[in-house]
Amino acid sequence: MKDPLVKTQLFRFVDVLPVLVTDRQKLQHLLEYLSRPPSVESWPGLLSLVSGLLRLPLFRQLLMRLSDRQVRQMGNLFIVGRNATEALPKVLDLRSSGVGFTLDILGEAVVSDEESHHYQSQYEDLIDQLGNESLNWTEVQPVDFSDLGPVPKVNVSLKLSAFDALLDPMATDSSVERLKARLIPVLRLAMQRGVFINFDMEQFSLNSLTRKVFRQLILMPEFKSYRHFGIVCQAYLRSAEEEVREWIQLATERGTPFTIRLVKGAYWDYETIIAEQNDWESPVFSEKWESDQAFESCARLLLGSYPKIEMAAGSHNVRSLSYCLALAEELKLPRNSFEIQMLYGMSGSFKDAILRRKLRLREYCPLGEMLPGLSYLVRRLLENTANDSFLRQSFMDRKAMELLLRRPGWHLERQKEEKKKERKNGKDLKSL
Ligand SMILES: Cc1cc2nc3c(=O)[nH]c(=O)nc-3n(C[C@H](O)[C@H](O)[C@H](O)COP(=O)(O)OP(=O)(O)OC[C@H]3O[C@@H](n4cnc5c(N)ncnc54)[C@H](O)[C@@H]3O)c2cc1C
Repeated sequence: MKDPLVKTQLFRFVDVLPVLVTDRQKLQHLLEYLSRPPSVESWPGLLSLVSGLLRLPLFRQLLMRLSDRQVRQMGNLFIVGRNATEALPKVLDLRSSGVGFTLDILGEAVVSDEESHHYQSQYEDLIDQLGNESLNWTEVQPVDFSDLGPVPKVNVSLKLSAFDALLDPMATDSSVERLKARLIPVLRLAMQRGVFINFDMEQFSLNSLTRKVFRQLILMPEFKSYRHFGIVCQAYLRSAEEEVREWIQLATERGTPFTIRLVKGAYWDYETIIAEQNDWESPVFSEKWESDQAFESCARLLLGSYPKIEMAAGSHNVRSLSYCLALAEELKLPRNSFEIQMLYGMSGSFKDAILRRKLRLREYCPLGEMLPGLSYLVRRLLENTANDSFLRQSFMDRKAMELLLRRPGWHLERQKEEKKKERKNGKDLKSL
């Protein structure tokens, strides 16, 4: 994973693997991705080795079986089940250990009306089935209770690109109307069954559309007084703080709180590449510390606005989460006034530490088949293997905690200090 070329070739293989049916197809792709093209002189060590070994038939077979199994195992690590029946025992296990869940049906960017209708029905079935079953579940502390009252036991996350095939940011009004037509029945059912609905945030081109649909829906008279709606804010966006201020204003206008899940954002590579390709200014920060810093500033605004808005901090970064905990203490907020959210299958030891502190913890649990889940899997792979990732630096690179816990932007202060010293030394020399 340290070598960008090996990483790219492996990701390309993972990306296509679930649609390859026969061993022959798998082998052909393996050869294409892992064999050295004649034009490339400096093929990295691992790829050179694999490229040589691929000439041996036995090795080909072994590698094929192993890679197939590895990708499927990886899928099982991050995906809670293929359907609600498979997922149910796992989410009940989570609840019995004091952790809540939010279920997301895998799949995004549908390409036909039929497909979007299918997603709508799947979500309705999930809400109906779990909403009914949850009536028999015993309450779990602390995740089922916020300072403002009971919290739904069933929590569902959805992506708007799964609800309409023709989403077009340039045709906002028609896109918004079609989305609302699909979402109103889902929200209505969720309200009847007492289920929480969260709108996930996808790539920047859908950002303003998603916010517009959410805003219009939660202001509708039938939904206006329901507390259990939420949306995501991505701190890596240069516009994140402005967005948070708009949400606070909306919450004031609405009079009933809703939730903002604050995350850094999962599409950093995509946004950066698209902006470079088109010669646009990137909507996301270019330095990791800027996203970390923006996460903290947004958390300050959100926690500061409590109880108008409830915040969920979605992160695996101990510094970012500790900042939220310290801030809540500084603002004298009750311990259960906000939630911490993490991804299913990741950071077990961090989760234990959060539970020991009796904080509200929820896991984001994707549900579905491997094929529609691939974009999700590739995003997790990119995230966990990126050089700047907190998880990689703490678990793989074993960087010292005191380095990882430093304030974002600390190096700028050090540079300033050094410049000051240089200037002072220069002055001292002159006076000599
Ligand atoms: C419960 C939950 C729900 C989530 N829902 C969503 C969602 O709806 N939409 C969404 O987009 N993401 C979502 N995410 C994913 C989330 O955005 C990533 O998990 C998160 O960005 C990783 O951040 P971290 O704080 O855990 O780790 P860290 O390692 O501290 O941060 C990594 C993040 O920093 C940012 N970054 C990396 N390099 C740079 C750079 N050079 N310049 C600027 N910024 C950089 C990127 O956002 C990257 O993902 C969710 C995460 C969780 C836990």
